[in-house]
Amino acid sequence: MKINIKDKFNKELPADPILENTRRQVTEACYSFISPRETTKPELLHVSSEILENIGLSEADIKSETFLKVFTGNNVIPDTKPYAMCYGGHQFGNWAGQLGDGRAINLFEVEHNNQNWALQLKGAGETPYSRTADGLAVLRSSIREYLCSEAMFHLGVPTTRALSLALSGDKVLRDVMYDGNSAYEKGAIVCRAAESFLRFGNYQIFAARQDHDRLKILVDYTIKHHFSELGTPSKETYIQFFKEVTSRTLKMIIHWQRVGFVHGVMNTDNMSILGLTIDYGPYGWLEGYDFGWTPNTTDRQNKRYRYGNQPNIGLWNLLQLANAIYPLIEDPEPLEAILNQYKIDFDAGRLDMVRSKLGLEIKEDNDKDFILELEDVLHFTETDMTIFFRNLSDFKKKDVLGGLRVIQDAFYKPDELTGNIEKRWVDWFEKYAQRLNRESLSDSKRKAKMNKVNPKYVLRNYMAQLAIDDADEGNYKLIDELFQLLKHPYEEQLEYQKWFAKRPDWARHKVGCSMLSCSS
Ligand code: AMP
Ligand code: MG
Repeated sequence: MKINIKDKFNKELPADPILENTRRQVTEACYSFISPRETTKPELLHVSSEILENIGLSEADIKSETFLKVFTGNNVIPDTKPYAMCYGGHQFGNWAGQLGDGRAINLFEVEHNNQNWALQLKGAGETPYSRTADGLAVLRSSIREYLCSEAMFHLGVPTTRALSLALSGDKVLRDVMYDGNSAYEKGAIVCRAAESFLRFGNYQIFAARQDHDRLKILVDYTIKHHFSELGTPSKETYIQFFKEVTSRTLKMIIHWQRVGFVHGVMNTDNMSILGLTIDYGPYGWLEGYDFGWTPNTTDRQNKRYRYGNQPNIGLWNLLQLANAIYPLIEDPEPLEAILNQYKIDFDAGRLDMVRSKLGLEIKEDNDKDFILELEDVLHFTETDMTIFFRNLSDFKKKDVLGGLRVIQDAFYKPDELTGNIEKRWVDWFEKYAQRLNRESLSDSKRKAKMNKVNPKYVLRNYMAQLAIDDADEGNYKLIDELFQLLKHPYEEQLEYQKWFAKRPDWARHKVGCSMLSCSS
């Protein structure tokens, strides 16, 4: 296995001088060197051929013993030095102090085709940042992360990627719903890939400790390697850096809203500095279009991270990042201006995004109200977001009354479509037809355009759960089927039509489908 290693994080940034793997506060350092733990019987379940290619490896490499051992942490490539990153974060709105890579171990960085990739194992054993947990991951959550990160990429959403999914051969004890019912589950390891895994929390930890020297070192490093277009670090560059992070974060969240993705744990330690979706835990996909929905049972009370609140939380998290890098800038005004602009840009960006979902090219003053009206009717009776938008592209301008027929499959309780609800829908379709008449696209051209922004296939919560249930029994075929399906989410793929369907009834209240916890 030949791989072009190009380490920089663990070469250029300050390391924790202590090499013992004990749980502790790590100060004045960006990371701690750590060896992944050996596993009993590693077994590869799936490899993403795209990431394999992106890092300069081939299908032949997958078959080698070295590949299996390296990407399950059983073998360290000579001259590389695995490490866990130190970061802090706000969890559910409260400063939580040091968190860090408690179950992630960075292996090395690779340069290939002018692209840089950091490769990181999730679930390869404890680190100084493991706190009270075991540093391991179970198969269930690893399948979810593996499938979703690749699916998000193909949906066009900025995200960390995944190279491989493997069983460790070890058993891991978990109390899924925090109710005292612990059970052993299969342990697994995902190898993730991204340009960098830096999070808002990496900067916050130094600010919280008033370690402004390390803060500057880390920000300068980030600009040098990941925002090099900003030039030599200076106060002005730091402001531009913040502006760029804000812009990327905003774009990422608009994409989430477009495809109906709910992250579930938007803590500041789960916010990538590159604006990538990171840390796939208790995430979920909207089925019924519902601004108040969150998949995360840990957040059931306040629903802080519900679908409709993601944009606000993005802003709140950016404010924390602004506070963290403030000591390098010492002028609140430009930072405040950027944060204020976020709200304006978000509203405009979101409006454009919904317009595109509706196949509208012209911007009209009333669009906001028109969209609000749609959102109202979508909330009246449970309406499947993905099916609604995908099928809406079949609407014909001249057939207003056919509107409800076109979207019929999206309704979970079609018999609720009577009286006022039905009337409101017909009214809306009436307006939609009028609105489309002022557009120039033909029905068929509009359909083609809409189908490029409204996916037909997303990783519905129950789909991942079916793959998990099979995998628990030792059958891994569905992982590959979903993986292949989700590579082309906007294509018809009639052979996979059965996945273009509403959530089945059995999944409505099932653990893993509508209820997920952070304990994975
Ligand atoms: P999360 O919100 O799931 O991204 O995790 C929050 C923090 O808990 C991070 O510092 C993780 O590294 C840590 N963590 C989560 N699960 C484990 C685990 N099983 N073992 C050790 N640390 C963990
Ligand atoms: Mg995390």
